[in-house]
Order: sequence, then C-alpha cells, then structure tokens
Amino acid sequence: LRAKRVGESVGLWDAGIAGVRPEEIALNAQLRAAIGRDELVLYYQPVQSARTGGIVGAEALLRWRHPSRGLLPPGEFLPIAERSPLIADLTRWVLDEALRQCAAWDAGGLHLPVSVNLSPRMLVIDDLPRVVSDSIAAHRLAPDVLTLEITESALVTQPARAATMLGQLRSHGVALSLDDFGTGYSSMEILKTLPFDEVKIDRGFVTDVRGSLPDAAIVRSVLDLGHRLGLRVVGEGIEDERTLTMMVDFGCDLLQGEAISPPLPAERVRELLRTRAAKAGKVVPGGDVRC
Ligand code: C2E
Ligand code: MG
Ligand code: MG
Ligand code: MG
Repeated sequence: LRAKRVGESVGLWDAGIAGVRPEEIALNAQLRAAIGRDELVLYYQPVQSARTGGIVGAEALLRWRHPSRGLLPPGEFLPIAERSPLIADLTRWVLDEALRQCAAWDAGGLHLPVSVNLSPRMLVIDDLPRVVSDSIAAHRLAPDVLTLEITESALVTQPARAATMLGQLRSHGVALSLDDFGTGYSSMEILKTLPFDEVKIDRGFVTDVRGSLPDAAIVRSVLDLGHRLGLRVVGEGIEDERTLTMMVDFGCDLLQGEAISPPLPAERVRELLRTRAAKAGKVVPGGDVRC
C-alpha cells in the first residue's frame, strides 16, 4: 500500500481493499460524502506577471472544511484519496468548480485564467481529455483559460501513455505546466519530449534563493533551460519582497507565493484585484489583469 502504483486501474484500491487501514477507509468515506455536501472548497493563489506586475492567473488549491477538524490542506487527505477510485470524482469536482468560478469571474468582467493540479493517477484515465473539454464547454469558456499542472512523478511510470494523454489535452487547447520541477526524475527527457507550455520551479529551490548559492544556481539554470526551450517559467514559494525582486532580476516570468498573496477564497481574489487596481489608479471592471 505504501508505494503508489500509478499504472493500476483507478477502479480498484491499491493492493486491494484488504490491505487498507480502517482509518483510511473511514476518512475516504467521509471525503466521498464531503463532495456532495459542499465541504470541499477551492482557494485561489494569484500569479503575478514579472513584466507588468499585474495578476495574470490563479492556481486552484483544494481544501476540505472538515466538520470536526476544521479547514484541512490537501496533504491531509489527497494522498488517501489518490489510493482509491475517489480521486477521479475529486478531480472532476475540482475541474468543474475551478471552471465555474472562472466563468463567474468572467461574467463580472474579470478575465482570470486558472490552473488546476492533476493527480498523477488521472493521466491513466482514458476519458480525461473528454472530461476536461466537456467541462470547458459546459461553462462556455475558451480552452486557453485553463492550465493543467502535472508533476514529474506522473510521467515516469507510464511515459508513453502520459505522452498520448498530454498530447490530446494540448490539442484541446489547454495549457500544460510541469509542476514542482527539479524534485522528480528524468526532468530533461520530460521537458524534451512532452508538450509543456510552462515549468514551475519547486518552492524548495525558490524559498532560500537569496541565502543559498546552490539554490540560486539551480533557479537560474532552470530559468535558462526553460527559456531556451521556449517555455514560460513560474517561481513558486516566493515568501518575501527581496526574494520577489531577485526572481524578477533573474528573469522569472511568473511569480507565486506569500509575498504576492497566500491562497485566498474566490471572493477575496476579486477584492485583492480591486485594491491593487485602485492603488495603481486604474479603472478596470474586474481588477488589474491582462495588463
Ligand atoms: P503545489 O501545486 O506545488 O501548490 C503549491 C503549494 O505551495 C500550496 O500548498 C500553496 O499553499 C503553497 N504555497 C504557496 N505559496 C507559498 C509560500 O510562499 N511559501 C510556502 N511555504 N508555501 C507556499 P497546498 O495548497 O497545501 O497544496 C499542496 C499540494 O497539494 C499542491 O502543491 C498540489 O500538488 C496538491 N494539490 C492541491 N490542490 C490540488 C487539487 O485540487 N488536485 C490535486 N490533484 N492536487 C492538489
Ligand atoms: Mg501546482
Ligand atoms: Mg508546485
Ligand atoms: Mg507541490
């Protein structure tokens, strides 16, 4: 049970239900019920353009308003969901909710593209491209409002299958982002062969970039590599102003982290954009996006 096997059918529990701990089965059942009970919520972390200083997107991050345990971050429940068929339902919910929010913002004059994280296991679900394009169409959005974030680990277990899937998603017009870059394996091969639009430097390298020469060297090399491959590069985990300035100086295209904004409930994203637009003296209906 310990080792996640990406290639298996998501219709079955890993290692069979017999090997799963009772607490895990209980939490999984609670989580299943939570989907239908409005206990799940997406927070959105704004992404800033280095060139314009404007907010140009937001990453959807899942939270569970647990009835007794409070607001749970994804690390507390996603790993368990990922070992069961529930991950497919969760992914559908997250996609649909993020696109619903994106369409609602759009209707209010705020054009804010969203990024959604994909569980590695979703890459082996054959109808994923259809699920994605159906959800985009249902909300009457253009496919380019959506970026799907995928980690390297998703791509090493079944590279051929993942490549086919990513190609299909890409041909539907959604953008693809390689998340947590630098923490997995075969990074270069993945960047060389798969149709990514964006690479996100893992926050493990970004957070200490000011104080650590090795981290700075890695960050600058990934920026150079990404740019030479024609990709946009995102730095995540930017926690203070000086790190933000350094990442901009290094040529990072997109910036994400507490220094810009923590993940926020959807209403607060709109407020943040209004405040920033007001400070910049701009009168834009939704905020300061697309500058
Ligand atoms: P990620 O995709 O790399 O997301 C970035 C994580 O870094 C988020 O944690 C975010 O809150 C955190 N973060 C943002 N700025 C800072 C900062 O300045 N400093 C530090 N220390 N951390 C920062 P979160 O929300 O707990 O999410 C953790 C991971 O869970 C995500 O990592 C992603 O892999 C996964 N995840 C989140 N939502 C979803 C989802 O809807 N579906 C799937 N499959 N995975 C998700
Ligand atoms: Mg991500
Ligand atoms: Mg990441
Ligand atoms: Mg991560």
